Amino acid sequence: MFYVTINGLSLTGMNNGFAQSSHKNVLSVIKNLRLGVHEAKTRIVMDVKGPITYRYFLLANPYRLVLDMLEVDFELNPAPRNSTGGVLGYRFGLLKPGISRVVVDLSKPFLVDKHFIIKPGAKPQNRLVIDLIPTTRSKFLAYVRKSRNQEVVGLPKLKSEEQKQQTAQEFKKKSPQEKISKSKIIVLDPGHGGVDPGAIGIQGTYEKRIVLMAAKSIKKILSKSGRYEVILTRKSDRFIPLRNRVAIARHSQADLFISLHADSIKNGAVRGATVYTLSENASDREAAQLAERENKSDLIAGIDLNAESKEVTDILIDLVQRETMNQSAVFAGAVVQEITKKIKTHRRPHKFAGFAVLKALDIPSILLEMGYLSNIEDETLLNTNLFQKKLGLAILQGLDRYFFKGQTFKY
Ligand code: ZN
Repeated sequence: MFYVTINGLSLTGMNNGFAQSSHKNVLSVIKNLRLGVHEAKTRIVMDVKGPITYRYFLLANPYRLVLDMLEVDFELNPAPRNSTGGVLGYRFGLLKPGISRVVVDLSKPFLVDKHFIIKPGAKPQNRLVIDLIPTTRSKFLAYVRKSRNQEVVGLPKLKSEEQKQQTAQEFKKKSPQEKISKSKIIVLDPGHGGVDPGAIGIQGTYEKRIVLMAAKSIKKILSKSGRYEVILTRKSDRFIPLRNRVAIARHSQADLFISLHADSIKNGAVRGATVYTLSENASDREAAQLAERENKSDLIAGIDLNAESKEVTDILIDLVQRETMNQSAVFAGAVVQEITKKIKTHRRPHKFAGFAVLKALDIPSILLEMGYLSNIEDETLLNTNLFQKKLGLAILQGLDRYFFKGQTFKY
């Protein structure tokens, strides 16, 4: 339960459909919100631990600034009691699964002059800064009318022109070596684990065990290149809810997320690796059935996922996810090009389906089925060091193709 006191008025909970985030997943945290009152502007500063993706808009009657973000946790003090710099107070909480909201109540019309994120320097947190400047009621209302399609901030492609130029200049300043030395963060996600064994092979191979072995071997190969920092969602035989796997990727500010699997199907003749990316419509029945099985992981462990599917309808999520899905498909293409050279792949090596674990809204994600435990040759191969090395090298080359297109490396 959560209390806000604004000018002596005490609100219990958030009545307009708001609620405090209740789950204990690893998400970004808003640690602090403060105001800087200057002669010509009022500055709102929020300290954010972890990445933030946001949009804002203004509302009239009464005047409000609304800030929507991909879901965060709040560790904020209640709003200040006294109106300062035209800010009467603020409210915050979960708007709906996937989206958090901060509402700032304003005593008079303002426009947003600037808004930007300061990356951590000496301080360990990102800072989100919003500068408000006083305006007239008619200008405020004109802005509210034309601002139906807000931009989403936090995605490279959707940055403002000014930010784009800044980034381009920063990029130019750096020498090629420096560019390469900043390693990319890859989250490898060995599927299943603990109470959820995943598929079990004809010869008794457990999917949860083989994917962990493969993840460790791939990690070694990627780390050795010096270009990638690898984080595993699990290092031992333990269960991790699908949602937490996604949260780990977000919290690590991952550049890419790769979920590893080796499933089993009825047809024992089918074999080879397949790369899957997220899509509302599955590319075929087999892909749809596979996604259904994978998504059951949380059910097996008794976790309720009902709230998950609703989030796809939000416009903010739509915008973010469309870009992420494009990037995921590009990365999938790069991996497919490399794995087909080294290991046996499925006759259609890139497929689409609605995998819950690929719903990290702002991180390109793929799910790699390394082979089928229902096929005896695949099962035997998957257990060999040689296969795992070939796969690791193929993923390294796929990553290089995706991140460092046109550059050549020794393998
Ligand atoms: Zn699986």
